[in-house]
Amino acid sequence: MYNFAYHKPKNITEAVNILQNADDAKVLAGGQTLIATMKLRLASPTDIVDLSDIEELATISKTDKGIIIGAMKTHTQVSKSEIIQNNIPSLSYMASQIGDQMVRNQGTIGGSVANNDPAADYPAAIVGLGAKIFTNSREIRGDDFFTGMYETCLNSEEIIVSISFPIPIRSAYVKFKNPASRYAIVGVMVADYGSDVRVAVTGAGNSVFRLEKFEQALSNDFSKDSLSKLTVPTADLIEDMHAGAAYRAHLVKVMAQRAVSDCCSQI
Ligand SMILES: Cc1cc2nc3c(=O)[nH]c(=O)nc-3n(C[C@H](O)[C@H](O)[C@H](O)COP(=O)(O)OP(=O)(O)OC[C@H]3O[C@@H](n4cnc5c(N)ncnc54)[C@H](O)[C@@H]3O)c2cc1C
Repeated sequence: MYNFAYHKPKNITEAVNILQNADDAKVLAGGQTLIATMKLRLASPTDIVDLSDIEELATISKTDKGIIIGAMKTHTQVSKSEIIQNNIPSLSYMASQIGDQMVRNQGTIGGSVANNDPAADYPAAIVGLGAKIFTNSREIRGDDFFTGMYETCLNSEEIIVSISFPIPIRSAYVKFKNPASRYAIVGVMVADYGSDVRVAVTGAGNSVFRLEKFEQALSNDFSKDSLSKLTVPTADLIEDMHAGAAYRAHLVKVMAQRAVSDCCSQI
């Protein structure tokens, strides 16, 4: 590891101040990605701003708008929160399926979302559940947040403070995981909001995407069979050592149908 200045601010204003005045600062959440990236010299920030002492980032609450989760909540905390289990069980289940116990104890929702790994689970939950991201300076719709592989619309001096999830009538997340890392080869979130059905896919493309044809079919008839004649175009899907584009397209449909079946068993 090379030298850098380490900061541990007590509040968001102090943290943003450091980000604005440093040459090239990065915030540190669970460190599951950032530390490895620095060790490999893929990033060499001059300043590290550790968010772990900021209490405002570590809350989970229920309001009339839904469930609000602070950016520093770990995957374990999200998976074990009774508020989340009782209101959006698909979200607590999704968090329980991330990586291994050590990764879940350290990795945070804010870090995962800011990182936008194409195989990460949270992007499917953010887009599939129609979530909103609140930063120190603005509110961003989940649909507008993820802009490409490892890219988001965050600017370098912006901190994710919390994420709010409207509570669906029913929802389910199903993933086909890489057996070594547990990252998604394909993961699909299906959420039924009555007038609005959302289907979001992670792992298959450069970034999370919605499947509008699947959403329309489910809006007309919320059943697994309504998807049976639909296909997933392969043109924009990832080809890598884990799966080809055609296989991923097949998996997307199968995972979506399983998620719909899970939803149907909830009512
Ligand atoms: C072995 C292994 C297996 C994994 N498996 C999975 C998996 O199955 N599914 C999955 O989804 N993920 C998986 N992950 C990813 C992991 O769960 C973390 O979510 C991810 O590494 C980033 O979260 P973090 O809190 O550690 O962020 P950090 O590593 O601390 O930060 C990551 C990036 O986000 C930025 N950042 C962090 N917090 C904020 C914030 N509040 N505002 C703005 N920017 C911020 C940092 O500056 C940095 O650029 C795995 C990781 C490992 C190491």
